[in-house]
Amino acid sequence: MIRYNKMRIKMVNSQLRSRGISDERVLKAMGKIPRHIFVDEGLQDQAYADNPLPIGDRQTISQPYIVALMTEALELKGTEKILEIGTGSGYQAAILAELADRVFSIERIASLADRARKILESLNYYNVLTRVGDGTYGWREESPFDAIIVTAGAPEVPRILLEQLAIGGRLVVPAGDRYSQTLMKIIRLSESLEDTEITDLGGCRFVNLIGNHGWKG
Ligand code: SAH
Repeated sequence: MIRYNKMRIKMVNSQLRSRGISDERVLKAMGKIPRHIFVDEGLQDQAYADNPLPIGDRQTISQPYIVALMTEALELKGTEKILEIGTGSGYQAAILAELADRVFSIERIASLADRARKILESLNYYNVLTRVGDGTYGWREESPFDAIIVTAGAPEVPRILLEQLAIGGRLVVPAGDRYSQTLMKIIRLSESLEDTEITDLGGCRFVNLIGNHGWKG
């Protein structure tokens, strides 16, 4: 355990701070949450390395820097209601649970969602609600959300998610082709879905967002 604590502090300093992540709340959450618990036992020693890792079903837990970059872009203060598409390991959901009020997270693969739910419960994150399904529809009953994060690569910015974003809310989504995407931050400025402020956060590579408003299979 002490060994993992050390690896985590090193991760925060050498991978996050040094590359410009400056939101102290984000750095604190990433320094606190035991990332190794979210991967298989055989991979725990690699959990704090500077890369994504497999989590089964051909899916991955994102690189720590990407988690930090996306989370920082959501500009969380602690009061927000958040939607995550792609629960995966549950690690990103745990970070969000630390930094916001309530987290709603959707995963299309039931076995991953079950595993993530158990880990989140074991770490006492009771403010995360997970559901199995196609997240490209969003979670309309719970909308509007103050922030929406998509952790799988979309062919384009999903319009439905923009509709479920509060005015002033932030949507962070990787959009592009199947093999490489641009990480986009979109702030909704008014009732009109055309009235947005878009920032390009750089290139990235995510697993595909598969669903009705994503890639087909
Ligand atoms: N946030 C995750 C990263 C998971 S990788 C973590 O912290 O570990 C992306 C995940 O998105 C995969 O588990 C994949 O199954 C899921 N996914 C892909 N398309 C989806 C969709 N339409 N709805 C919900 N989940 C989806």
